Amino acid sequence: MSKVNSKKTNTKKRKNLTKKTRFEVFKRDSFTCQYCGNAAPNVVLEVDHIKAVANGGDNGLINLITSCFSCNRGKGARKLDDNTVVEKQRQQLEELNERRIQLEMIMDWRRDVEDIDKITVDMICEAISTKSQLSPNDSGKRDIRKWLKRYSFDEILDAIDSSFSQYLDWDNDEEATSESWNKAFDYVPRISSVKRRTKEKPYLRELYYIRGILRNRVYVNESYIMDLLEDAVSYDADLEGVKYLAKTCNNWTQFKEKVEDYICVMKERSEQ
Ligand SMILES: [Zn+2]
Repeated sequence: MSKVNSKKTNTKKRKNLTKKTRFEVFKRDSFTCQYCGNAAPNVVLEVDHIKAVANGGDNGLINLITSCFSCNRGKGARKLDDNTVVEKQRQQLEELNERRIQLEMIMDWRRDVEDIDKITVDMICEAISTKSQLSPNDSGKRDIRKWLKRYSFDEILDAIDSSFSQYLDWDNDEEATSESWNKAFDYVPRISSVKRRTKEKPYLRELYYIRGILRNRVYVNESYIMDLLEDAVSYDADLEGVKYLAKTCNNWTQFKEKVEDYICVMKERSEQ
């Protein structure tokens, strides 16, 4: 009895498949019976439920498969019930297809990224060439790619502007000397770094200026000077006064001691 009932339900539901759904299933399966491999028009095709409607299978495309008339009635080369293998194959095929699509997407994406990198490097070379009439070679381009890992495009362009304006020397034929060109090129990342730091701490520009004055006049303890000046700034030192001291001191020790004295006094005051 129960068998008859379920068959009735099955038949009823199957009739509910629209022509469009059947067409989609047939197209997907290349109008070929997925159990025996016979294709239309040699055989009449039907749509079979992989999980029977009686067992809760629905009319979704994933549960539908193309079957010939014979296979659908259990008379074909394969038994109708033996559909786990078919289902597995279908899943593998879908997975393979999905992987292929994703691989194509990844390759497109990589091509895009490489294009952007190349264009960015070319634009930086162009900026250098505009400034110096000379363009970086492959080794220079490799350096530029390294710069781009640390600094933004704008930071690098800004540094190129400063460096090539400052360090380039021109020979009699109005060509940049290779020595000065290399120096200007090598200074680009350093200038990028300094510019970034001065952006974060605007007073650094003043401190670098004070260090520059000292360097021109006396011996400077390079490992200590910036710490000393930053300390002075943190105690609200008058930078014009420090600048004056840098211009007038007799030597590094005198400069250092005066600044240290100032810091000492300010420290004591703040602790009182
Ligand atoms: Zn078949």
